[in-house]
Amino acid sequence: MHDIIIIGGGIAGLSVGGRLSREANITLLEMEENLGHHTSSRSAAAFIEDYGNKTIRELNRCSKPYLQDKDVNVLSPRGSLFLAKKTEKEAFKRQCIEFAHDEISVDEAKKLVEIVDIKTAKYSAYREDILDIDTDKLLQHFTKIIKKNNHKIHTNSKVSKISFKNDKWLVETDDNSFSSDILVNASGAWVDEVALLAGVRPLGFSPLKRSMARVPAPENVINHKKWPMIHGVDESFYAKPDAGELIVSPSEETISFPHDAWPAEEDLAQGIFNFEELVTFSVKRITSSWAGLRTFAPDRTLVIGHDPENSHFFWLAGQGGYGFQTSAAASELASDMVLGKKSNLAYLKDKVSPKRFF
Ligand SMILES: Cc1cc2nc3c(=O)[nH]c(=O)nc-3n(C[C@H](O)[C@H](O)[C@H](O)COP(=O)(O)OP(=O)(O)OC[C@H]3O[C@@H](n4cnc5c(N)ncnc54)[C@H](O)[C@@H]3O)c2cc1C
Repeated sequence: MHDIIIIGGGIAGLSVGGRLSREANITLLEMEENLGHHTSSRSAAAFIEDYGNKTIRELNRCSKPYLQDKDVNVLSPRGSLFLAKKTEKEAFKRQCIEFAHDEISVDEAKKLVEIVDIKTAKYSAYREDILDIDTDKLLQHFTKIIKKNNHKIHTNSKVSKISFKNDKWLVETDDNSFSSDILVNASGAWVDEVALLAGVRPLGFSPLKRSMARVPAPENVINHKKWPMIHGVDESFYAKPDAGELIVSPSEETISFPHDAWPAEEDLAQGIFNFEELVTFSVKRITSSWAGLRTFAPDRTLVIGHDPENSHFFWLAGQGGYGFQTSAAASELASDMVLGKKSNLAYLKDKVSPKRFF
């Protein structure tokens, strides 16, 4: 049986840990007190099959059956509504094609979301099969599998030193040390830093910050909880019902660095302004806000595979804005590769391989 250390207790580390825990000895190390503390607790929790490039879309498509399986069951209906101003016609039409949305009249849009402002919203389109992901449930699902298989998850365990000798890793935290044959790097925004610690060449990942404001839902509306996700053109904002309120994101991509991210007030204000331009509702206050780091490889495709210069080092990185919706397929492919098993997803290996950066 392989001994495997996984660094990172977000969706990437937990999902691959869950898969591997059936056939290998795994140890998962997470530097924070709680699992999913960083990007994995800050997402919009959406499953949009046609979001991302061709490889990402394939990973989304292949993940869906697992996420819908009755024992996992984390997807639920949401729908998606595009709204655009008169001046945005061209971009709107392009976006409808790219994301396979059907154009509907603004009156129809108003039936779906009663706060649509027919004075400013001149174009609208809808797609029904956009889904919500219960991200907490998915994180717990994989955590439970790891624990059920009697493997250890160590929180409060920041990896600070890594050495490699005689084909074995020695991984050290402040008060412990662990050894393994294989090291899986699933450390989100920190993947290049962890690679450097391990003496592996970093691949040039970019953590891009994206923020979110939670605001009270408008009063006197009928069942806003059923509203679809609402998008402006070219990601000028998105908004969706969440926990009895609305979340509104400016959809920004601010170049950042690995850290505990927080939102800038001007970004939140811009997102809310763009949203308010198309609806008859004005936001009176922000209940809470947060930001997370969407970490992308230079070509915005996940990186899954053994490092070409040290085959004991395995990358599971660059989940960008798709970490939950790709998680089932990405973790299946990753665990098959780590275990040297034949994979149903082997046709994607080259597309996601770290070799493309060498
Ligand atoms: C605003 C926003 C909206 C999003 N919306 C969606 C969406 O709708 N759908 C979707 O699929 N995705 C979405 N995403 C993206 C998704 O959240 C991420 O792709 C995913 O959470 C990344 O998971 P991860 O496990 O790679 O990273 P993380 O969750 O950040 O986990 C990495 C972990 O590694 C740990 N770590 C780092 N260094 C060390 C070390 N030295 N030692 C020990 N531990 C370490 C960190 O503490 C962290 O917990 C969104 C993201 C944001 C910010």
